[in-house]
Amino acid sequence: MRATVMYGAGDVRIENVPDPKIIEATDAVIRVTRACICGSDLWPYQKMERSDTGRVMGHEAIGVVEDVGAEVRTIKRDDLVIMPFAFSDGTCAFCHDGLQTSCIHGGFFGTTEVAGAQAEAVRIPLADGTLFPVDADADEALLASLLTLSDVMGTGHHAAIIARVAPGKSVAVVGDGAVGLCGVIAAKRLGAEQIIILGRHADRVALAKDFGATDVVSERGEGAMERVRELTGGYGVHSVLECVGLESAVNTAISIARPGGAVGRVGVPQEQTIPGSEPAFYNNVTVGGGPAPVRAYIEELLPDVLEGNIQPGRVFDRNVGLDGVPDGYRAMNERKAIKVMVTP
Ligand SMILES: [Zn+2]
Repeated sequence: MRATVMYGAGDVRIENVPDPKIIEATDAVIRVTRACICGSDLWPYQKMERSDTGRVMGHEAIGVVEDVGAEVRTIKRDDLVIMPFAFSDGTCAFCHDGLQTSCIHGGFFGTTEVAGAQAEAVRIPLADGTLFPVDADADEALLASLLTLSDVMGTGHHAAIIARVAPGKSVAVVGDGAVGLCGVIAAKRLGAEQIIILGRHADRVALAKDFGATDVVSERGEGAMERVRELTGGYGVHSVLECVGLESAVNTAISIARPGGAVGRVGVPQEQTIPGSEPAFYNNVTVGGGPAPVRAYIEELLPDVLEGNIQPGRVFDRNVGLDGVPDGYRAMNERKAIKVMVTP
């Protein structure tokens, strides 16, 4: 089959690789209906060390089940399924807590250990715990929104939950990528009254407003801090969704939270230490977050997607075949595309 293999920074190739097969009795193999490129794929795209073997990329997909192992019970051939970016057994203590990204038998797709989904097909470990079957006749728009439940919509929702977004609260979203935009959807859905998007790309900001953003702050650093204070009566916001991962973004996030507020971090951190220690401490700002247990959130978010109450699939502004994936990485890296969908 054909798949996307990354060999180093900026080096993404479409190659023939062996077809995925059932290895463990708990595996499934899905034929990928739609996959996509993630903002977090841009970190290796910018920094990955050269590798001779390469890495099959992609951790977001929806697909149709082609084959299941002998011990798979709930997932059946021909099911339309959402593949969360992490696989999980669904039975351990952390899965029971709804934190499938910490599953003791789990792991992540698109790593050097487990091949990714920017490909024609993908092997799914622990299929019963991992995959979420969807009983729907999906048109193109619905497929796009279902695809976001494999990562970005669930991740934006996680940031909002960790940041304690609630009815009537003020919220700021740091980052205008697909996760930030989904964070706006999540904040609105959870009843936030004021939603400030920190971003500077006209197309993204326009979409954020469509999704429910009430204010736009295009300044950065100190300037952003001042603008958010102005917009919140001098206090700062109750909840901040940090959807970038860079030190500067985390600093901004902590500095715009009001005393007693909370920051939900979902941007993959690019540093070892958490910045903003002093302002976080003196303002009693809670800082939390991590890889979103999107598997747990599908249940909550799916009905709103199926009913069209939220349309996170609108974050995709480009759809390519596998041959278009290397260009798709370039476009996202140069901020010429918000999020690229892949139809293998
Ligand atoms: Zn588990």
